[in-house]
Amino acid sequence: MKAISGTNLEQAKSHNRRVVIEAIRTSGPLSRAALAKLTALSTQTVSNIVEELEGAKLLKAEAPQKIARGQPITPYSINPDGAYSIGLELERNHAVGVLTDLSGRVRARVERAVDRPTPAEAMPILAGIAEELQRSFRFDRARLLGVGIAMPGRYAAEGVTSLSPVTLPGWQGFPVARELAGLVGVPVLVENDATAAAIGERLYGVARGLSSFVYLFLGRGIGAGMFLDGHLYKGSRSNAGEIGHMIVVPNGQACQCGKRGCLDRYVSLGSAYEYLNVQDPEQYAPETLDTLIEQATGRIDAWAKAAAEPMRQTIDFLELAFDPQTIVLGGSMPSSLLQRLARRSEPLHTPVNPGAERSLPRIMIGATGKDTAILGAAALPIFSETNPQFDVLQKPLG
Ligand SMILES: [Zn+2]
Repeated sequence: MKAISGTNLEQAKSHNRRVVIEAIRTSGPLSRAALAKLTALSTQTVSNIVEELEGAKLLKAEAPQKIARGQPITPYSINPDGAYSIGLELERNHAVGVLTDLSGRVRARVERAVDRPTPAEAMPILAGIAEELQRSFRFDRARLLGVGIAMPGRYAAEGVTSLSPVTLPGWQGFPVARELAGLVGVPVLVENDATAAAIGERLYGVARGLSSFVYLFLGRGIGAGMFLDGHLYKGSRSNAGEIGHMIVVPNGQACQCGKRGCLDRYVSLGSAYEYLNVQDPEQYAPETLDTLIEQATGRIDAWAKAAAEPMRQTIDFLELAFDPQTIVLGGSMPSSLLQRLARRSEPLHTPVNPGAERSLPRIMIGATGKDTAILGAAALPIFSETNPQFDVLQKPLG
């Protein structure tokens, strides 16, 4: 694995701090010497940063290890209690919040039922969830980095301060981050669910430490989050990865976007529900839907069979376009369904370089399950504060 190089320039101190945190997050506990080697920073620079981060309680010293010769070495690890973050997810029929520590562990969880809320209805509900999360777990409030919120794409193009989904009715142009920050009193970061999930998988899941991967988020529709050459890739209007509206069946089924034959219509939870004759999934409890999927084996097989070719085509396209180390499947789709789809999509189309040895499978199933977007949302403030390539994330005005 190639580590991200640091720079010994004094001005880049903040960047170097991130490089050190990222190295430990990716590799596990590391000594000063191992950190210096991995980051290409000088031993003195590493020592200063480690001291600073330990003082800030972001790193903690593990028990010293004796080595054959010389002084025992002290490995440093991420201090879970060094920082906290809140993740929120708003769907049409429910809102969820989690409080996580710096290691990504969930310390509190709150869920509320909602009914296609307008922004005016949703803001106090989301702020209430954030409040309740802070009340239900005892921690140093000064260590709360912020709130991340995952919402379905696509986004209005008004710019970074008014990032808001156009797919929820009444939300066009509403400045979600700014309004919510005003209510909760900490910075708020907004991302689409696929990008948030990709960040979560990179910090804590199967994509930990990978420099190039595509995350396919399968929920009501399908979207991609992209981490390329160590950077989150979002595009000029934050809509990169809206692949659900790529035409895979010319003149195929009509899509809500106005086109025909979009990927969304074949490879998504929404398309699976159609095979189960579930017209309005929001009318059902999530457990009921899971049971329906478990029981209707024949219909689900028919769906997977129809979804397989568009899926293979999509994997082929993503591999050819981006040359990722792997493609991670996840989202709100049940894991059993993701696995069935992945199996059905085999054999995949011939890769660009069939003889090349791979260190990872071409397709992997995400580690965070159905909570992937909410955990990704909670990862946003942590990623923003600790990743060396943080600058592409949306930043609200004050
Ligand atoms: Zn479409």
